[in-house]
Amino acid sequence: MSRQREVVIIGGGVIGSSLGYQLAKQGKKVTIVEQSDLASGASGAAAGMLAADCEQFEHPELQTMAKMSRDLFPALIHELRKISGIDAGLNQQGFLTPARDKQEAENLQAELLAAGTGGEWWTPEKLSQAEPALTEGLTGAIYRSDEIQVIPSKLTEAFAYSAQAEGAVLLRQTEATSIQVQDKRVQGVQTSGVFLRCDQVVLAGGWRTEQLLQPLGLTLPLEPVKGEIVEVRTRVPLLQATLYAKSIYIVPKPGNRLWIGATSIPGDSSEGVSADSIVRLLSEAAKWIPEIRNAQFERAWAGHRPKSPDGLPYLGGFQEIQGLFAAAGHYRNGILLSAMTARLLASEMEGTTTPGINLVPFRPDRFQHQLEGGLIR
Ligand SMILES: Cc1cc2nc3c(=O)[nH]c(=O)nc-3n(C[C@H](O)[C@H](O)[C@H](O)COP(=O)(O)OP(=O)(O)OC[C@H]3O[C@@H](n4cnc5c(N)ncnc54)[C@H](O)[C@@H]3O)c2cc1C
Repeated sequence: MSRQREVVIIGGGVIGSSLGYQLAKQGKKVTIVEQSDLASGASGAAAGMLAADCEQFEHPELQTMAKMSRDLFPALIHELRKISGIDAGLNQQGFLTPARDKQEAENLQAELLAAGTGGEWWTPEKLSQAEPALTEGLTGAIYRSDEIQVIPSKLTEAFAYSAQAEGAVLLRQTEATSIQVQDKRVQGVQTSGVFLRCDQVVLAGGWRTEQLLQPLGLTLPLEPVKGEIVEVRTRVPLLQATLYAKSIYIVPKPGNRLWIGATSIPGDSSEGVSADSIVRLLSEAAKWIPEIRNAQFERAWAGHRPKSPDGLPYLGGFQEIQGLFAAAGHYRNGILLSAMTARLLASEMEGTTTPGINLVPFRPDRFQHQLEGGLIR
């Protein structure tokens, strides 16, 4: 009988936690190592939109993966709630992309036809009937009933605690400091606490993932793209569906809260939210929902989207080192892609493939030859 494999996942964000759950459910001995708290990175800062159609992915493989992932969530969230008792706050009221003038309405209608994705056109009358708090004079909207949204920190916890319920070990406040490799095979992970012996290591450390690879002579280029979100609270609910405009999104959350986002600042790894960003986000939001001016300011926060040079995630094993895998670089859609990422990577780690998705475009060593040729950095 073959020995049960030991897997160490570095990172307790949505990606590491989702994979931890999938592997533990399959009977693997899994340890998730998180240097801080669960969802303390980008996963706790996200808006939680699972917007597979609105995001309009250019890469066909990523588009397919996004839709497959989004469609897994309603049942998956139910399953996670049963196991962990944590409610990830699934909202199925759909997404609206409204038009401000005739030209925008024509463009959106053409987009809807060309995309051939789920979605219907709402007239100005239907729009103001469904969402009376929206500003007057809008010329219609695309309504997408399939798009959903969640509370991302809760989703991450639901994955992690469900993984624990399935036998995974969660090590919080524990930093992975190096990966031990011998004869091109993974031996284990040195942490700020114990040494964890294992056959397989998955790097899911968000935008800082590459740090652990440098001593091994491997690259995984990732850039932080800072994003800020503002939360306001209103006396009565102002929005049923999520508003997904080109300039801004406004996401209704429980307790009459609206999450307004987001800025996008490439290469900025600073913490904190600038006053200028708050002013810009709120004034743009008030153009869509004037009543937002009377809302209570609750809080604002920032996070860092992990972006690869081609904008695609890294999913799969490194050819150079047996047992070393990456699940990182999900940029602005890691919450959306988390369900499918876990399934794809779990199959890859077993040496099997998942029908319908080709992982070649996501190979983690796709920039390695450029490093060797001196093209990167
Ligand atoms: C403002 C904003 C809005 C967003 N909105 C959305 C959205 O609506 N929908 C969507 O799908 N996506 C959204 N995203 C993107 C999404 O948040 C990310 O793609 C996703 O969270 C990445 O998850 P992750 O697990 O890879 O990284 P992270 O959440 O950053 O997790 C990585 C974890 O690894 C830990 N770690 C790192 N190094 C080590 C180490 N050496 N040892 C131990 N632990 C380590 C970190 O502490 C961290 O907790 C948004 C992001 C931002 C910033």
